[in-house]
Amino acid sequence: MTEQLIEGSSAGITQAVRTVAIDVDSVLADVMLIWSDEYTKRSNRAVTKKDITAWDIPTILPVSPDEVYKYFSYVWKFRWREIPPTEPKIGEVTKKIHRKGYRISILTKRERPTAPYVAKWLDLHKVYADELLFVYDAVPKANYPFDVLIDDAPKNLVDVVPPKSAILFNQPWNTTFKWPVRVNALSEAEELL
Ligand SMILES: [Mg+2]
Repeated sequence: MTEQLIEGSSAGITQAVRTVAIDVDSVLADVMLIWSDEYTKRSNRAVTKKDITAWDIPTILPVSPDEVYKYFSYVWKFRWREIPPTEPKIGEVTKKIHRKGYRISILTKRERPTAPYVAKWLDLHKVYADELLFVYDAVPKANYPFDVLIDDAPKNLVDVVPPKSAILFNQPWNTTFKWPVRVNALSEAEELL
């Protein structure tokens, strides 16, 4: 490994570009704000994002796993323009990461029908991306090529092992998960990179 690196540098190969994988739902797009609103409309039970204190929503709200996904897909298909970014000028933050020399991989696991709307949302908010990866199966995010992952889902972080690393994006459903590096905003993560 070390020999290879030395050979590489002596051959004039430029320093390897580091890749940051950024999640979409609840890292770039504050989708649970609209999900909660949709749930409130359909159930007549007032719920806000703050109430979603568990990853597994059916354990805290009277809703089935199918309904959770159904509302989620509905929100992306029909209300995607209402989904706010997690902070203003999120596109600028991604450009800042790009200017620091990182490759940006947007890595998002989702239902196939929502993919085009996610792409539209990313364009609308001028999110910089070198690649856009829509994951439809159950392959863990940790298996994808990146150096740093920024995600809000504990289940995506647990498999990340050195030399890869991960930054947890704080959300009401991950407060009890033990993880050393946490941020409240993408701009905070940008400062750590
Ligand atoms: Mg997420």
